[in-house]
Amino acid sequence: MTLLQVRDLAVEFSTAEGLVRAVKGVDFDVERGRTLGIVGESGSGKSVTSLAVMGLHRGAEVTGSVDFDGTELIGAPDETVRRLRGRRMAMIFQDALTALHPYFTIGDQIAEAHREHFGSSRRTAWARAVEVLGDVGIPEPARRAGEYPHQFSGGMRQRAMIALALSCEPELIIADEPTTALDVTVQAQVLDLLMKLKEERGLGIIMITHDLGVIARVADDVLVMYGGSAVEQADADALFTAPRHPYTRGLLDSLPRLDAGGAQGEETALRAIPGSPPSLLSPPAGCAFHPRCPLYAAAPQAACTDARPPLVQVAPSGHRSACVHPEVASPC
Ligand code: ADP
Ligand code: MG
Repeated sequence: MTLLQVRDLAVEFSTAEGLVRAVKGVDFDVERGRTLGIVGESGSGKSVTSLAVMGLHRGAEVTGSVDFDGTELIGAPDETVRRLRGRRMAMIFQDALTALHPYFTIGDQIAEAHREHFGSSRRTAWARAVEVLGDVGIPEPARRAGEYPHQFSGGMRQRAMIALALSCEPELIIADEPTTALDVTVQAQVLDLLMKLKEERGLGIIMITHDLGVIARVADDVLVMYGGSAVEQADADALFTAPRHPYTRGLLDSLPRLDAGGAQGEETALRAIPGSPPSLLSPPAGCAFHPRCPLYAAAPQAACTDARPPLVQVAPSGHRSACVHPEVASPC
């Protein structure tokens, strides 16, 4: 069941240097009980996209459509979006210390959010705070609810932020690099927790990350962004087994592999994609990826530089890719 439907979403910032087109017409759906992974290098427009969904851009030109369970949010009164935010859709960030207030206990902050959205009594709100802290696997939740953020470890703080997001029983959670600051073991635990909550509560989740390893672990559907555009969209299986866009292939090649070559357990060197992400102030003509594209380098096509390639369906499953190079652009 579709919870969130985003169509032709575009975000532009007017800056002293000129117009920054950070997101250029992106489409995606989030289904209840599924995780959409949005992946791309730093600066590809992932966070700007998620903030646009949450109605959190001030001073930016946001166009297109964001339909949350039948309510259009673009152009809606501030009050409409504010009532949904924190209540039916919530966000989790990389850095819990910026999301949590240092001078209030964890329990007070969760209880306060509950009171604000449900008008509950102090006692009910506190009980709810202790309950959700337990739900996210914080030991001794009744005691730890009385502690301050700095008394929590990094992993426990991320859990507390998830508890804060969950306290009002949202239907959609947007997690923007929620585990980037954590070590690998704790990262896996936090991702597993999110997946468990998705299954148990039928949440729709948007998982934003620069790390395809995170996508492989949690995503059902994937949107690959490059320079503010979607360059590939597919279900996770199709993306990993039959990637079509050379950018996605480059990202996959740069994943450390445990199974290929080298002594057992030894990671082969990370092959990052050569070159750097495009300037959004003066992006390359045509396909923004063409200056870094191995297919273009090997066999340049006029179509690569004439116009930005549209996303077209390349497999019946709905797999879509925005590459016009003949080597990968065979129609379905
Ligand atoms: P990421 O994919 O790493 O999350 P972002 O969505 O944060 O990337 O940023 C995409 C681009 O938009 C970046 O080039 C960033 O500099 C630009 N950008 C983001 N916010 C603003 C702003 N308020 N004003 C101007 N440019 C911005
Ligand atoms: Mg970001």
